[in-house]
Amino acid sequence: MTGTKPADVDVAVVGAGFAGLYLIHKLRGLGFDVRCYDQADDVGGTWYWNRYPGARCDIPTTDYTFSFDEELEQAWTWSEKYATQPEILDYLRFVADRFDLRRDIEFGTRVDQAVWDDAARVWRLRTSAGEELTCRFYVMATGCLSLPKRPDIEGVDRFAGEVYFTGKWPHEPVDFTGKRVAVIGTGSSAIQAIPHIAEQAESLTVFQRTPAYSIPARNGPASSERLAQIAKDRAAYRDAARWSPGGIPGEYEENYALLMTPEQQRERFEKRYAEGELFAILGVFNDQSARLPANDIVSELIREKIRERVSDPKVAEALCPKDYPFGTKRPCLDTNYYETYNLPHVRLVDVRETPIVTVTETGIDTSAESLNFDAIVYATGFDAMTGPLVSVDITGRDDVTLKQKWADGPSTYLGLTTTGFPNFFTITGPGSPSVLSNMAVSIEQHVEWVADCLTWLRDEGYRTIEPTQSAEAGWNQHVADYAALTLTDLANSWYVGANVPGKPRLLYPYVGGVEAYRAACDEVTGRRYLGFALAGPTGSECNDGVVRRVQPDVAIVLNLFEALGVPGVETLPVPDARAFMTAMAATRMPGPEVGEIVDGELPGADGPLPYRLYRPATPGPHPVIAYFHGGGWVLGDLDSDDPLCRDLCDRIGAVVVSVNYRHAPEARFPAAADDAFAAVEWIAAHAAELGGIPGQLVVAGWSAGGNLATVAAQRARDAGGPPIAGQLLICPVTDSDLSRSSYEENGVGYILTTATMRWFWDHYADPADRTSPVCAPLRGELGGLPPAVIMTADFDPLRDEGIAYAEALAAAGVPVQHVRARGQVHTSVTMVDVVLSGAAVRAELADCVRGWLTA
Ligand code: NAP
Repeated sequence: MTGTKPADVDVAVVGAGFAGLYLIHKLRGLGFDVRCYDQADDVGGTWYWNRYPGARCDIPTTDYTFSFDEELEQAWTWSEKYATQPEILDYLRFVADRFDLRRDIEFGTRVDQAVWDDAARVWRLRTSAGEELTCRFYVMATGCLSLPKRPDIEGVDRFAGEVYFTGKWPHEPVDFTGKRVAVIGTGSSAIQAIPHIAEQAESLTVFQRTPAYSIPARNGPASSERLAQIAKDRAAYRDAARWSPGGIPGEYEENYALLMTPEQQRERFEKRYAEGELFAILGVFNDQSARLPANDIVSELIREKIRERVSDPKVAEALCPKDYPFGTKRPCLDTNYYETYNLPHVRLVDVRETPIVTVTETGIDTSAESLNFDAIVYATGFDAMTGPLVSVDITGRDDVTLKQKWADGPSTYLGLTTTGFPNFFTITGPGSPSVLSNMAVSIEQHVEWVADCLTWLRDEGYRTIEPTQSAEAGWNQHVADYAALTLTDLANSWYVGANVPGKPRLLYPYVGGVEAYRAACDEVTGRRYLGFALAGPTGSECNDGVVRRVQPDVAIVLNLFEALGVPGVETLPVPDARAFMTAMAATRMPGPEVGEIVDGELPGADGPLPYRLYRPATPGPHPVIAYFHGGGWVLGDLDSDDPLCRDLCDRIGAVVVSVNYRHAPEARFPAAADDAFAAVEWIAAHAAELGGIPGQLVVAGWSAGGNLATVAAQRARDAGGPPIAGQLLICPVTDSDLSRSSYEENGVGYILTTATMRWFWDHYADPADRTSPVCAPLRGELGGLPPAVIMTADFDPLRDEGIAYAEALAAAGVPVQHVRARGQVHTSVTMVDVVLSGAAVRAELADCVRGWLTA
């Protein structure tokens, strides 16, 4: 097409496991030339190498299977719930035979080098067989757990006996009968192998550094329920898997441990434990992966089970994981693992108590003893996710290798592509759900995405595709934002690269789930390959952009609102809108504990006003915050902002006095503003009685409450008091102009809408009053106001007036800090313990307020 020499093949693929096999089949069917390379002598990938005794999958095989061809599915029946390695390998051989895939695979051959030739727009490959070839597209289908990690133990090469690695097990049968065997490691591989090795060995010594959380797999026949579902409507079942969180259809109920009684918690746990499935135990409670107190409940219940399974209490205790949350390392499914330690010839050595000093010619020396063995089995894991990719010399544009580019951690767009490496794809690469999902489903999705992409490029006449830097940075940020919502950083797992010395620490897979991920990929293709630069002989195009900018937990809330069909409050009569807000508030998390909460009354501008005082648990007196709730001067009350008030009290260490001012339309402008100022005056005058430090008064508010807080500060300045130490303004209403860009951009779909704001204004103030600084403080005199921190949210119609206020205050000489809440909406920081990503924003606001108070 370009006058350059055609490539030898259209697509070169590395790896002949699940991914490589399907790629060959799929691309071949679309008319592409494909050549695949694998170091092994046959197909199988991970199932070719991991032949250790007891090796099985940990996803039910009804689901860990190709779904792209109904006839293939009908031609194969799995014999067990969790098939053994030989059976899975047989299956992959069966697939290879059925579709005649081997003729496009070079076995026993490694791709040693791949270099992008930018002039010719091809990849140039060199193989271990000395072959050189060019391809237009280069796909690494090398799996996530295919590069065994060399054990970082002194003396590993000295041992004169038999040495085995679970990840590279010999093809000939290994017989441990009559032998003294050591196993190093207690991850998934070891936990599967140990009971089998113990059956043969004269003695077995297991060296454990970190105990795993394991539950019984309860292997046996495949689930009859699942088989029935598949038989009833195979296509619907597979489709449900594709659009599920983990790649297995199931019921995903709302179950928050922290909202249940201990009895309810136990009942639900027992039900899930009995299923013997990873996703069941990882999803006992919706909050277990994000909230430590919820996770502690599951972790302790699993420890209880371990203690029941092991006779010697000391050994049981050593086998109980205690220093990392459940699920932050991959949990294991076992058959008789813990019971194996009840056998007289099996011993556990806790290397955290007695570390391995060195491997010797005859065995292993720990800090306490010298032990002799006939065989050592290393079940010490893999350089996961990136290891198989950077261990091949892959050089992209400008002579930069993938290893160099990823020196500080992988950077991908969708886990599929990476800038600087045109026409290069990674199947289940870092930044995609991969190991956190049913790999079969994720592999099929990636293969199909790549196949669609190559077909589209061909149809459109494009020759190259490469992600843009901004799209890639945006995806990396999204992956990191999701990771930050989990507890995964609390464990030294291979998920975060912690098992390989020097490997950058971050969560390598995408934790958002199969469904959300697929939606993002589909959106990218649907928007003409959003975030990709496309070029061909007749032209180029680039629809640059970031596919996911909203914080992931906010997106979940938005989706929930949409699914529930939550009405806009402006569609309701005011009493119904208030009742609706009250009902919503009743279902949410309560917010943190504080020292004391007292309800009272204070004099407003026209009669008493209810207030609620939050006192920190620390000894007083404390600074005082006069707080005004949000709700567009129409909605809201002392309950509506209760979690936020608790949070501010707790974080800042201040007495928070939340004031319920008069609302519109019953009391229109300026009633609320008058009440707010009266309340500030009263709180200042009674600071000592309230347990506060006189003179240390901050005004604060969210939304319309932010408007009232800063209007009160303007009035206090004009009235010569009371003195105010600072203003905490969270997404404040500062102006009545609804034509700013943020209204255009965010006026629909982010909870607070333009229509709702218009409704609020119409209830609150006559058009003629809306230009008054008491309504629109941005229009007032701003000099001489106390320091301010102004938070704006990216996806808030009020964003731009918040920014304008921050800029105007700064221009007027007021010390001001603008906190931009990336990816947040108007309500985010008030949704304490729901929008967890809001916590970082609240922490930043609290730091700022504390700064004024200690200054
Ligand atoms: P792993 O989970 O990384 O476990 C490695 C084990 O070796 C850990 O217990 C580790 O302890 C220990 N270890 C490493 N270096 C050590 C040292 N120098 N001294 C003492 N102990 C050391 O690896 P894996 O068991 O091979 O499993 C890896 C992943 O493969 C699994 O998480 C799973 O995703 C997959 N897999 C799945 C199945 C299945 O059921 N389908 C079976 C096998 C593997 P530390 O934890 O302290 O580092």
